[in-house]
Amino acid sequence: MRRKITRTIHVRGLAVGGGAPVSVQSMTNTRTQDVPATLAQIRRLETAGCQIVRLAVPNLEAARALPEIRRGTDMPLVADIHFDYKLALAALEAGFDKIRINPGNIGSPERVRLVADACRERGVPIRIGVNSGSVEKELLQKYGLTAQALCESALGHAKLLEDCGFEDICISAKASDPAVTVEANRLLSERCDYPLHLGVTEAGTKERGILKSAAGIGSLLLDGIGDTIRVSLTDAPEEEVRAGVELLRALGLRRGVQFISCPTCGRTEFDLIGTARAVEARLRDKPWDLTVAVMGCVVNGPGEASHADYGIAGGKREGVLFRHGEPIRRVPADRLADALVELMESENPV
Ligand code: SF4
Repeated sequence: MRRKITRTIHVRGLAVGGGAPVSVQSMTNTRTQDVPATLAQIRRLETAGCQIVRLAVPNLEAARALPEIRRGTDMPLVADIHFDYKLALAALEAGFDKIRINPGNIGSPERVRLVADACRERGVPIRIGVNSGSVEKELLQKYGLTAQALCESALGHAKLLEDCGFEDICISAKASDPAVTVEANRLLSERCDYPLHLGVTEAGTKERGILKSAAGIGSLLLDGIGDTIRVSLTDAPEEEVRAGVELLRALGLRRGVQFISCPTCGRTEFDLIGTARAVEARLRDKPWDLTVAVMGCVVNGPGEASHADYGIAGGKREGVLFRHGEPIRRVPADRLADALVELMESENPV
């Protein structure tokens, strides 16, 4: 896949853009001032594969907690600020690594310059984040709630920072409609070379949200557009991260085990669904760049999955363990998952 090469920004040493691997982000949903709960959630996100964590900083009480949160983790942290430039300055003072703020929302060119200068001094980038709810009235009147409006809005905010000589910028343009999200980011990609943070906003609960996000984010990534992603779900933030990581794996943009399993049919004579789930759960976090197949019958399975590095194909009482379509040995059907994992662990130490 050819990726568009954007500028590079650094978020606590993590490169975003410029061809760096696409990173996965999420956002805490604890009260930021509840430091133990926030740090515990950050640790869970990190374990799930998150690389950048955003925290809401809605008021001074939340801002006062930022130094302690900063001391409690090495994760790249982003402060999400809506209107109050003083909260952005407090987050910078606390050692946060990126500020998400829309300069057009903070009141005056002087305030924009203050924030831009403070970010520049510390080498901290700014993310401009527009979505369907934040587009300015004039743009809505001119374009309606369209991709064009999102793109113009984002570039308008960027211009305010550029006027201060600040270009350490990342942009996101999100709509809850994947098609609008895709179009807005294609436009942005044509019109600027800032790194783009992708996401479908308000995508919904887990199942539908993942589908909408995969359609929107996946389309853009396949076009080579996008440098960092968030799968927004009405669910635990860890689920967002797992979905983001799996999406990158599915597109070959992140290392890890690729799974193939057949859709089942009338030839299936064992618990294929349970076996496939068990194999997936046990191999999900392994760092191997391997393809694994779980197939429903011995007659067709190994051949259909001959491109897999390892595989199992089940039958009524027993199945086969195979490598690149070639049988290795027969195994009782209820031992297939164990035998596959044991073989892989013995041949691919972590
Ligand atoms: Fe059916 Fe066998 Fe193909 Fe699975 S591998 S879909 S069970 S023919």
